[in-house]
Amino acid sequence: MKTILIILMSISLQMCSQVHKPEKEKQMENITTNSNPYYSRTDRSKLTVSNEEWRKILSPDLYAIAREAATERPFTGKYNQFDELGEYYCAVCGNHLFRSDSKFSSTCGWPSFFEADKEGVAYNRDSSHGMERIEVVCKRCDSHLGHVFNDGPAPTGMRYCMNSVSLEFVGDSEKK
Ligand SMILES: [Zn+2]
Repeated sequence: MKTILIILMSISLQMCSQVHKPEKEKQMENITTNSNPYYSRTDRSKLTVSNEEWRKILSPDLYAIAREAATERPFTGKYNQFDELGEYYCAVCGNHLFRSDSKFSSTCGWPSFFEADKEGVAYNRDSSHGMERIEVVCKRCDSHLGHVFNDGPAPTGMRYCMNSVSLEFVGDSEKK
């Protein structure tokens, strides 16, 4: 009788922990997502979300730049003059894009990097505005980030010219 009781108790305890675990994870996720259900800094699986849906989730500024390829005015972005150590993520979906080690001070007016996370970004040919450029997009959610040029510093010679609005910075000191 005693053994059965112990078994029953341990089963109910197990069930309890099983029920509570996902709830805990969900709560933690909610803190960083701001009610964006697609946001994740760990899930790198491809997202296929319509612009209609993004429009409901993203701020108007972020929507215009990330989903309609608008460009923020130079020298206005929050990460233009910014040199803290940490990681840069996609502001739309949380995908990892850049490490602060690859950021350099550029005179172009937008935050610039000489190297991107290879798993973080993808490239498109952009012939708009009478120019031949290479557009940089988030590999996970296809959001517009900026353009890449070949006039950057060593070691890569590349200049990833990004919109601050498309980026989200997390400092090394904030990481647990
Ligand atoms: Zn993204």
